[in-house]
Amino acid sequence: MEHLTSAHGFYLTATGAPLELRPLTDLQPGAHDVVVEVAGCGICHTDVGFARDGVPTRHPLPLVLGHEISGTVVQCGTAAADWLGRAVVVPAVIPCGECPACVAGRPTICRRQFMPGNDGHGGFATHVKVPARGLCAVPAPLPPGVPLSWLSVVADAVTTPFEAIARSGLHADHVAVFVGVGGVGGFGVQIAAAVGAGVVAIDVDEGRLALAGSHGASLTLNSGTTDLKRMRAAVRAFVADSGRNGIGLRIFETSGTTAGQQTAFGLLDFGAHLAVVGYRPQAVEVRLSNLMAFDATAAGNWGCPPERYPDALRMVLDGKVRLDAYVETHPLARAADVFQDVVDHRVSRRAILCPQ
Ligand SMILES: [Zn+2]
Ligand SMILES: [Zn+2]
Repeated sequence: MEHLTSAHGFYLTATGAPLELRPLTDLQPGAHDVVVEVAGCGICHTDVGFARDGVPTRHPLPLVLGHEISGTVVQCGTAAADWLGRAVVVPAVIPCGECPACVAGRPTICRRQFMPGNDGHGGFATHVKVPARGLCAVPAPLPPGVPLSWLSVVADAVTTPFEAIARSGLHADHVAVFVGVGGVGGFGVQIAAAVGAGVVAIDVDEGRLALAGSHGASLTLNSGTTDLKRMRAAVRAFVADSGRNGIGLRIFETSGTTAGQQTAFGLLDFGAHLAVVGYRPQAVEVRLSNLMAFDATAAGNWGCPPERYPDALRMVLDGKVRLDAYVETHPLARAADVFQDVVDHRVSRRAILCPQ
């Protein structure tokens, strides 16, 4: 325990307050827990919701936020000893494995799930205690130029669109449309391209569109300068020209914005599948009957089952999903300032906090 005495984390103490550096207590693992020395923890839109928009955390404040964690296991409970010393990605949502939802194969809706930085202290810290169940082992050695800290984004920003894409049944004959191609959408574009689908990227930011264009998107549309009618026409023309059968667009709302949600819904077409990946607390007005008129499907997913993490991680390790243009690292010591920069939209890449 000696080396954990200086363990510390950045706590949210109240909505709107700056994150506050405090010691970490209670790092003693239970029988089925491990303590992970954090290599990196990504800052997610959901953390901003907790810290600034008043979205309540399930564990009362003060709480260390952060659910996008990679690191190395440095302590194990008696039933989790196999994990000692291993590099891991910690799933953002860790199901209990025993409740009716888990038994029925729906672990992402487990009501006894543990989400770091929501149900207990998270990864904006030097260390985090989590259940060993569901940990994703990171094989050694890592590919050149991919540090363990970067793999933190696999915990949420890669696996959540990965799961949405899997559930959509996307295959090489489909056209996939991503509305919002920042981190989550940018990874979605690459996953869909790796599946072989034709990929359309929509965003208001020309820089993000250019990046998507060099990472698998064949058509990019600026929704800030193109109205919905023209975007619909462009997508239909792309489907026709792509040589794919075109039955059932796969549309992914990855912006988490009101305008993005309206665009995604507005692109519904015959047999389409709309997956809502981005979160937005505000309501959006849509004509729900379009689902019926187009014989379309709308779906959402809360994270990704831990058993799918190794396949998502493999895509990153094989270079099918590249992280380099989509992430940036910052010292954990600057967590409060970096978090505020994310809140104020001064960071365009996925910001990762690194204790080392
Ligand atoms: Zn998240
Ligand atoms: Zn469960």
